[in-house]
Amino acid sequence: MEVKESQLVEHSNPFESMMSRFDVAAKILGLDEDTYNMLKSPVKAVMVNVPVTMDNGRTQVFEGYRVIHNNYLGPSKGGIRYAMDVCLDEVKALAAWMTWKCAVVNIPFGGAKGGIKCDPRIMSKGELERLTRAYTSALSDVFGPEKDIPAPDMGTGQQEMAWLVDEFSKIKGYANAGVVTGKPLVLGGSRGRVEATGRGVMVTCRAALNKLRINPANATAAVQGFGNVGSISAKLLETQGIKIIAISDVSGAYYNKEGINVSEAIAYSQANRNSLDGYRNAEKITNEELLTLDVDVLVPAALQDQITKHNAHKIRAKLIVEGANGPTSANADDILNSKGIIVVPDILANAGGVTVSYFEWVQNRMGYFWTEERVNRRADRTMKEAFEQVYQASLKFNVNMRIAAYIVAIDKVASTRKLLGGY
Ligand code: GLU
Repeated sequence: MEVKESQLVEHSNPFESMMSRFDVAAKILGLDEDTYNMLKSPVKAVMVNVPVTMDNGRTQVFEGYRVIHNNYLGPSKGGIRYAMDVCLDEVKALAAWMTWKCAVVNIPFGGAKGGIKCDPRIMSKGELERLTRAYTSALSDVFGPEKDIPAPDMGTGQQEMAWLVDEFSKIKGYANAGVVTGKPLVLGGSRGRVEATGRGVMVTCRAALNKLRINPANATAAVQGFGNVGSISAKLLETQGIKIIAISDVSGAYYNKEGINVSEAIAYSQANRNSLDGYRNAEKITNEELLTLDVDVLVPAALQDQITKHNAHKIRAKLIVEGANGPTSANADDILNSKGIIVVPDILANAGGVTVSYFEWVQNRMGYFWTEERVNRRADRTMKEAFEQVYQASLKFNVNMRIAAYIVAIDKVASTRKLLGGY
């Protein structure tokens, strides 16, 4: 099959960027046109305008979305993002990534994503609560424990999920713990869920280092982003003996060639209103410099499109493990490939979060809760098996790990569609 990734063109549109990888994998798989058309379009895309009374007494109307990309493998699953750049195309791309992510780790969910265009950092707790409840109410026919199950994403966390489950249960008239995951423990959350994405990054990073025959005890890493995924990835990589020589957040990047003490940096950030600003035990560098440091492992765990055709040729890491969704633009893949850099793609590397979300949903249905040890053991096994499956596909089809992950995922969803049939 003649497919050159260099045929990919630069896309700033996130949905097209996702589709350009999908196209490469679909061609290799020889996907028929009908199935291709069914998998490329979301099943449902809902836009809502939610009016919220602000603290100053005025009513502000917020734009919200929920896109269900696919539900062949099971109810659709995916987080809700609160950010100013939320738009339909971004939510569509993120929803599709969830479909592929769930398929890669073999959990019985389809893919979805939600978002509200807002800046949660400048909103009060009361405003955020009213916004979350209004959004839940507007989408109460879309969400459901057997239908579509949200979770946290950028800008949201346990508190928003608590408001969501409460509002949804009030509307339906009975308790509905399984309608959302990423809940606080007391409301039916799962042990290990907060750390799950970072833990999956660590597990897949270890698996990749093993293939590269790099001993973690001699390895160095730079981690971009210090939110839930970045900070916990850094902490867990450190426990594996990997020296974290740089971390970053919106305030900038912090470099220490002797190694950053990650627990200390986390404590500093927590005490400093979730900011590393002023962190002293390191030299301040730019985020751009962090990406191009001479390290074994680079973990982009911040935003989309951080590694692009403009900086990919300067990257010196041997291995990139994508904690964020979509941190590498489609045309940067080609450059990384030609430099022999191994990329553990987002739909595999950060799938630990949704894996433990699945465990949370299972526990909610059973009404019986697992120990943290059981959650971690099963999540680690899921991630290791998914890594190996993608790695074997990359050898079989002679493609990079990203295209291999798409191949594994698309193959699974496409064959399910054949069994399901249609109108
Ligand atoms: N927002 C996370 C992701 O992008 C978690 C989704 C979930 O747990 O449903 O994978």
